[in-house]
Amino acid sequence: MLIEMQDVHKIYRMGKTRVHALAGVDLQVAAGEMLAIMGPSGSGKSTLMNIMGCLDRPTRGAYTLEGEAVAELDNNALARIRGERIGFVFQTFNLLPRTPALQNVMLPLMYQHGRDRRRLAEEALARVGMADRMDHRPSELSGGQQQRVAVARALVTEPAIILADEPTGNLDSRTSREIMQLFRDLNDEGVTVVLVTHDQEIGDCAKRIVRMRDGRIVTDGPAPHMHPQEMSAGAEESVAAAEAKGSLTPSGSSPPTSSVSS
Ligand code: ADP
Ligand code: MG
Repeated sequence: MLIEMQDVHKIYRMGKTRVHALAGVDLQVAAGEMLAIMGPSGSGKSTLMNIMGCLDRPTRGAYTLEGEAVAELDNNALARIRGERIGFVFQTFNLLPRTPALQNVMLPLMYQHGRDRRRLAEEALARVGMADRMDHRPSELSGGQQQRVAVARALVTEPAIILADEPTGNLDSRTSREIMQLFRDLNDEGVTVVLVTHDQEIGDCAKRIVRMRDGRIVTDGPAPHMHPQEMSAGAEESVAAAEAKGSLTPSGSSPPTSSVSS
């Protein structure tokens, strides 16, 4: 099992009050899954992601990632796991705005010696359909293109898992579909993806949905695994856009976009 959490609690202390952000979470994620974590604001989604991503430790409970007991590790060990085993994607992309895409993607490889960092970054950008935009700065790219660069940056270290907290939260619906298609394509290639969303249609594109309320998992089961092109708000428009942008679609993307009605 890639991720195993047992009775994980997270309690934040705010002066005299205590916020029980996670109140006993049990969760297992196997390699190759595509999981959406859903739930209302304040239900503990980000807290769970932060613990999963080794940005934070549980107050109590057990968390093992690839067999390693994370809760007992010191900060240096946590930082090493984050750098080597986790790829993060954020709602706000978090790219360096005046640094070309290629150098943004090379950043996580800073401490890797004896490897061809440029070639690895180029390969990651090609995987997300950004081979022809490597020298562009994020300020010269659309939101969807910036998120693709951010996904390349998350992929470049070949992490065990990609964690994405509201990755489509700053994107319009058409671009959201394209990013969900990208995650689906990567997942088909074997990349494990855990994403947080409050958008039901985004969640429906995953293979499994975990629903949270008040710091607990309330349901956990298979998702409809809806195709991103089936999301509402102008499916035809999105098919046309996907075709027009053929070069932006990663190779090996799934077929439904290629057969178009009129
Ligand atoms: P979600 O991502 O589902 O909106 P969060 O995990 O961000 O929820 O928050 C869960 C609860 O924990 C909320 O009540 C929030 O106010 C609280 N919380 C989150 N982060 C902190 C923090 N750093 N300090 C104190 N309370 C926090
Ligand atoms: Mg959140």
